[in-house]
Amino acid sequence: MDDKSYHMTPDDFRRRGREIVDWIADYWETIEERPVLSRSKPGEIYDALPDAAPAKGESFDAMLADLDEIVMPGITHWQSPNFYGYFPAHVSGPAVLGELVSAGLGVQGMLWSTSPACTELETRMMDWLADMLDLPRDFRSTGPGGGVIQDSASSAALCAIIAARERATEGGFNRHGAGPGLVAYASTQAHSSIAKAIRVAGIGAENLRPVPVDDAHAMRADVLGEMIEADLAEGRLPFFVSATVGTTSSHAIDPLAAIGCLTRRHGIWLHVDGAHAGTAAICPEFRHLNEGLESADSYCFNPHKWMFTNFDCDCFWTRDRAALVGALSILPEYLRNAATESGKVIDYRDWQIPLGRRFRALKLWFVIRHYGIEGLRHHVRAHVAAAQDLAAHVQADTDFELAAPAPLNLVCFRHTGGDDLNKRLMERLNASGRLFLTHTVLDDRYTLRLSVGGTLTTRDHVLRAWESIRETAAQM
Ligand code: PLP
Repeated sequence: MDDKSYHMTPDDFRRRGREIVDWIADYWETIEERPVLSRSKPGEIYDALPDAAPAKGESFDAMLADLDEIVMPGITHWQSPNFYGYFPAHVSGPAVLGELVSAGLGVQGMLWSTSPACTELETRMMDWLADMLDLPRDFRSTGPGGGVIQDSASSAALCAIIAARERATEGGFNRHGAGPGLVAYASTQAHSSIAKAIRVAGIGAENLRPVPVDDAHAMRADVLGEMIEADLAEGRLPFFVSATVGTTSSHAIDPLAAIGCLTRRHGIWLHVDGAHAGTAAICPEFRHLNEGLESADSYCFNPHKWMFTNFDCDCFWTRDRAALVGALSILPEYLRNAATESGKVIDYRDWQIPLGRRFRALKLWFVIRHYGIEGLRHHVRAHVAAAQDLAAHVQADTDFELAAPAPLNLVCFRHTGGDDLNKRLMERLNASGRLFLTHTVLDDRYTLRLSVGGTLTTRDHVLRAWESIRETAAQM
């Protein structure tokens, strides 16, 4: 073997890195010129790519050209200020730069000893955020609990369910498999990730009880209480309740305090999913969303949705880290080390499903330091105010109606002309390229969802979106 190298040289990396940063900045600056929803047809991108990988390395210029010609037409522009679908999936300058540093360092943070900074910066960020959101004291790393960054709210829910399962069965489920009639509860409006996690955790889909909701689509705590009593009377073991702060369909807020009374009384693990709306609690005026969180055993929210931090970044806290670590810890010989054995360090591999983990705390650190609490509050408030304006316009227009209360930055509405008209209205708007929104079904009726939260979205964008909606509807 000679010592020939195919690697990119540091000088080329510098030059190309600058080009890529310029490319991203240009993209963000001109993003509004592009149709929000990709117009690509199924198979088009696949067919435009060569049948086989190149035998010899290619030039970076060729890659950049194909990025523009092949990839970009197949992009739906999630970062467009006119993207109002689903929930936002933020990026921001400091987040992308933090991500870049993390990629460059390329550390695996599975153990404290594999990069102490990766663990300790994460612990500090989770404690900062617990303060910023005014979470219960027990969630801090200095108490019986602590926080960890997961890839997604789906993973957070799965970890919570596994910890709850082991706590309820005193480790018996891990040892003996399916056990004593475990049952879990979530409202009919809970995110599908809860049902999936119940399946993955081996509880059985049939053992997740859908709890009915009230007129505002929030969980009925009184019915939850009856369901728990009925299951207990039949000898089952209620072990887990998932409540949501800001449901995906309509942003309903489950009554945490009333739910927490029940879960405490029966020793049931309460997980609170604040994946999207959780960010709002950075602002003191929205902290009421979390009233009752003192009773929760775990909580999560996604900075990768509405806190200017690119995917993936879910912040997950528990007040009972012994239950979590007890359920997920496994220590093969090749990972043994003095720091772990000292018991003085956190090994985050025990707080999640995979072993390996990225240095995600860097991008959070960059974001929080760049914006400061003041900057984050400013943008959250601006999104909420723009959404509230929109809700007022909808209410004032006799052709439209609000389909659900709009407590924050999601507005659910419909034209009074019926399901078919609303469906066609949305398709026409999305085909126009001017904006993108998605739908749900509430009270058995087709409902449009306009989620105001893009990093670049301002009040003017939202007002223009409303004008487009009205004009398009008038032509139908
Ligand atoms: N929970 C809620 C309320 C959500 O809205 C979503 C996604 O939109 C999730 C959970 C799942 O999030 P993730 O993609 O991080 O798993």
